[in-house]
Amino acid sequence: IRWTEGVGWHDARLAPYAPIEMDPANMTLHYGQAIFEGLKAYRQADGSIATFRPEANAARFQASARRLAMPELPVEAFVEAVELLVQQEQAWVPNEPEQSLYLRPFMFATEVGLGVRPANSYLFMIIASPAGAYFPGGVKPVSVWLSEDYVRAAPGGTGAAKCAGNYAASLVAQAEAAAKGCDQVVWLDAAEHRWIEEMGGMNLYFVFGEGEDARIVTPELSGALLPGITRDSLLQLATDLGYAVEERRISTDEWKQGNADGTLTEVFACGTAAVITPVGSVKSNGGDWSVGAGEPGPVTMELRRALLAIQGGQAPDTHGWLHRIV
Ligand code: PMP
Repeated sequence: IRWTEGVGWHDARLAPYAPIEMDPANMTLHYGQAIFEGLKAYRQADGSIATFRPEANAARFQASARRLAMPELPVEAFVEAVELLVQQEQAWVPNEPEQSLYLRPFMFATEVGLGVRPANSYLFMIIASPAGAYFPGGVKPVSVWLSEDYVRAAPGGTGAAKCAGNYAASLVAQAEAAAKGCDQVVWLDAAEHRWIEEMGGMNLYFVFGEGEDARIVTPELSGALLPGITRDSLLQLATDLGYAVEERRISTDEWKQGNADGTLTEVFACGTAAVITPVGSVKSNGGDWSVGAGEPGPVTMELRRALLAIQGGQAPDTHGWLHRIV
């Protein structure tokens, strides 16, 4: 779907995957007006196909567009584009547990020019690509590096938008994490390097206590972290399952201390790609420590099963999250 100043949205069409031609002075290549989303189409227990909360992706896409001075695609147009593409490609929606058809809606400037200002024309597209299970050999805890030298987002910046530049800026920190022997980077706040924000492409959750007394905490939306749709869904699901859930600030000291005295029992990350990933160990300038006993924790796995069961149509969709497509 194209957008041109004075014309609005037009030229919606379904086309086979193919390269696109780009002018060297395409403004996206210079000024980075590029935003995207990620969602999945899941084969349901009865053979039908559904996506999970596509309206939420559409709304976040609009918020990203506003932050990058780009036009907002109406929610209905976004969802309809998802529907048409999944209908067209339904043979590619796998029928195996935890597999899906990954959808990548994105938008970028198409105007040609060298002056810095919002472009006057844009292209919205969606790519569909089958995705395997994130943990083909079973869920395994990941190791994380607490990044102090790099920040992902600062107050007033683009941290809450899903824009390409945020990911470009994260690559060097991800490489640093890998060099420290860690799977993922954990971002801290820009001012004090003390408050936990999020992980590479996932939001974080902390479980204090055990069993029925477990309290679940996730960093509050500070404006610098991405409001994950999985994060939002888990706030609800954890409440449904009877847990006390809090959105608040949580510091690296509280994390370290909680693991040391055993009050912090589980940590996990969540996002569309990995669903829920347990965090097993932490490395930082302030020391290294492990989280739990090296196995995914019971609350982590309970929430993981509950979310996957809704996405796969095996559990009742009490919140109306599934969007049936075929
Ligand atoms: N944080 C970041 C930086 C991400 O890229 C993602 C993936 N979109 C998430 C969190 C998780 O968001 P969601 O649950 O909507 O996939």
